[in-house]
Amino acid sequence: MGISGRFSGMPGAALAPAAAFGSLAVPGRTAARSPDVRLRRVAATGTRPKPHDGYPCPMVTSRAPEDAYTAEPFVPSRGGLPALRRAAADCRGCPLHRDATQTVFGAGSTDARVMLVGEQPGDQEDRQGKPFVGPAGKLLDRALAEAGVDPGEVYVTNAVKHFKFTRAEPRKRRIHKAPSLRETTACAPWLAAELAVVEPELIVVLGATAGKALLGSSFRVTQVRGTVLEEEIHGRPERLVPTVHPSAVLRADDREAAYRGLVADLRTAADTLG
Ligand code: SF4
Repeated sequence: MGISGRFSGMPGAALAPAAAFGSLAVPGRTAARSPDVRLRRVAATGTRPKPHDGYPCPMVTSRAPEDAYTAEPFVPSRGGLPALRRAAADCRGCPLHRDATQTVFGAGSTDARVMLVGEQPGDQEDRQGKPFVGPAGKLLDRALAEAGVDPGEVYVTNAVKHFKFTRAEPRKRRIHKAPSLRETTACAPWLAAELAVVEPELIVVLGATAGKALLGSSFRVTQVRGTVLEEEIHGRPERLVPTVHPSAVLRADDREAAYRGLVADLRTAADTLG
């Protein structure tokens, strides 16, 4: 089969033979410049001609970084938490950055013994740029204190670093919307980087989304809450204690019972830390 036969039926088939023949150009001979030649160069190199070249813009679509659904290219290979935080502020690893106010990176000491991982920032967190500063965060602070977890030994973060929300109508209250698996997976390199820098002795998993991000899609918080799990997470052996997300306590019919359950799970975490 000839070259044109092999390429026929493929996207951009009319351009492919031209790209394939590019290496057969006679040294010293310059092809006549025409819009067609320009299109061939685009097909071969993916480079879009500059507007001042005077040729009509070819039908080439460029992919935005967020279309790739991964934060990987934005994560610096060196530097501690400050470098990660700075870089995360410009992350375009998925479309969630478009509507949110800002990236909400983790907070706490590099030497923290325990890392608490939630789902995503809420409305208040999105406005203030800090994790767990809204009503759920205040409830979590109270539960941690009651369980005997030292706030100075805690690093708090989320599986997803941008707020995802819907609005019933323009200018109405923003309503939390759970991130998709694709968005959670896209954001995973940030969580992996935080774990690599902080190296916590224990991870407290707050709710189903954080659990699925760390332990896979079969995670069920009701089945494992309050237990100590040992799993390899992002290449490191980790101990984890899953529990409910504090916002689930705020939504519970029996809020007092739900709160007692959260404190009991956090006590397991405190006991594990010793
Ligand atoms: S949610 Fe995560 S991956 Fe998506 S843009 Fe924000 S920081 Fe990047």
